[in-house]
Amino acid sequence: MYIILLGAPGAGKGTQAVMLSEKLKLAQVASGDLFRQALQKETELGKKAKAYMEKGQLVPDEITIQMVLERLAAPDVKNGAILDGFPRNIKQAQALDKALAPPKKKIDKVVYIKVGEAELLKRLGGRWICRKCQVPYHEVESPPKVKGECDRCGGELYQRADDNVATVKKRLEVYFAETSPLIDYYKKSGKLLEINGDGNAADVNGRIVAALR
Ligand code: ADP
Ligand code: ZN
Repeated sequence: MYIILLGAPGAGKGTQAVMLSEKLKLAQVASGDLFRQALQKETELGKKAKAYMEKGQLVPDEITIQMVLERLAAPDVKNGAILDGFPRNIKQAQALDKALAPPKKKIDKVVYIKVGEAELLKRLGGRWICRKCQVPYHEVESPPKVKGECDRCGGELYQRADDNVATVKKRLEVYFAETSPLIDYYKKSGKLLEINGDGNAADVNGRIVAALR
């Protein structure tokens, strides 16, 4: 089973990807995490991606598509995965359609998490993320029990370099220009599930699980 999570930065894709991967026993493939790991390890890929990420732009398709398709060829995601952050434009969606083509594979559902723009800005402002398991927290809306520490795994929380006001604005612009057309793309293929992304993570997760059934 392959499930794509679609939605703006701050819509809650990361949180829901973690919750769903536990519930459905599917590995999670998050393009942003793959890039951040490459950056940290200072690989060639990381060096190439860095400038784009800092500016809130998309990393070029050749680089991104190759990275994600390579990841999707690994044994642990051979039979399914939850995709978070990929595809992010039509070209990436077409490449994924080819890679996950029937009869061997298919994209089952695309979960579009819908959240208003004011709420997105608020969420991205105070976001803290676990270095170990990538679960996001919000300093006001959903703080961790112990400051600076992940409830789930005890990992250290940090703020992403691209969660500053200017870069957040750019990321939202890029989302509306390049990624939001995917809503129609997947609607046409009959795979889209539109989910109200307001409220706390458990409520949103309940809506997603109900819609997937
Ligand atoms: P968010 O969805 O919160 O913006 P991500 O962690 O998914 O954050 O992505 C962070 C950055 O990584 C993006 O701003 C972009 O530069 C790069 N990136 C991630 N996924 C893709 C993708 N599919 N195509 C191009 N660039 C990507
Ligand atoms: Zn953690």
